[in-house]
Amino acid sequence: MVNDIIYVDEKSEIPLYGVDFFGVIDRGTNIIELKPLTLCNLKCKYCFVSAGDYETNFIVDPNYLLKKIRDIIEIKGHYKIEIHFAPYGEILLYPKFFDLIEELWKIDGIEIISIQTNGLLLNEEIIKKLEKTKITRINISLNSLNQEKANFLCDCKNYDINNLMNNISLLLNTKIDVLIAPVWFPGENDKDIEEIIKYVLLLRKKGYSEKKIQIGIQKYLIYKTGRRLKKIRPKSWGYFYNQLSSLEKKYNIKLKLGPLDFGIHKRKTVASLNFKKNDQIKLKLISQGRWKKEYIGKLNDNFGIKVLLNKPISYPKELIGKEIRVKIIKANYKDNILTASFSI
Ligand code: SF4
Repeated sequence: MVNDIIYVDEKSEIPLYGVDFFGVIDRGTNIIELKPLTLCNLKCKYCFVSAGDYETNFIVDPNYLLKKIRDIIEIKGHYKIEIHFAPYGEILLYPKFFDLIEELWKIDGIEIISIQTNGLLLNEEIIKKLEKTKITRINISLNSLNQEKANFLCDCKNYDINNLMNNISLLLNTKIDVLIAPVWFPGENDKDIEEIIKYVLLLRKKGYSEKKIQIGIQKYLIYKTGRRLKKIRPKSWGYFYNQLSSLEKKYNIKLKLGPLDFGIHKRKTVASLNFKKNDQIKLKLISQGRWKKEYIGKLNDNFGIKVLLNKPISYPKELIGKEIRVKIIKANYKDNILTASFSI
């Protein structure tokens, strides 16, 4: 399969808000979430966004992102801003990553820059660069300390757990904080989660502080368009938090992390849309999406919207530039993410 890459810059006229899989997500807090690319070096069996498998990928121009971030901070206020990189993919594959970080630090008000990574591309050289560019925190997805289990979950024979653990040790001896973020798959990695808790406790016993090495267990979520583990059913949020409570008691460790633990607080929402589910709106299709049935519509210079076709068409590019009437099928007001459908 030949994969296309779409470069999202100012000239592309593709807006940076409104679409879930790239750009900027504003949830009305001091955190600005960035998704600068959709490429991933893994194709995990459980990936709820199906990364590593897109027919078309997206890379956002760093200057386009910077311009948007400066505008956002102007509105939110030049204080206590966290930039959090959480792409549908692997951030260390972003070509201009370190240049972007350096530019971000020049913006008044940014106090934290954190990233999510699967950690596989870490090495001594990259870690030195991460330290030099003063990354504040790295969240590493690590679901098991067992080599076979990790290989299975990530569907990757070359996933080298020892190498990853060595790199975590190197990170711990820098100024960067580390957060281990395992996903708990009930019935699949229950023991592994406890092993990871013990590992974090051991590191703390060795003298690393609770801020230096954190653990943030995540709930297994499934989505219609995501990949899922066979035979594993996600549990309810209630069950998940009960499990965390009993592990907290068993190991005497805080596992339920909330906004306060990360200094997250409410701030002005930059822009919002007043669309409701089932509204019919007219828009221009500005780009293809990740798959044949997915497009990006343009609502205005700021906002894009994901548009899903009811069936794939033979020449998907033919629809680009067309004005169409769509129906809103999902409107998430918290983060201003919109999805519409279009029947052909
Ligand atoms: S879970 Fe993370 S590392 Fe795995 S495929 Fe998805 S984005 Fe990539």
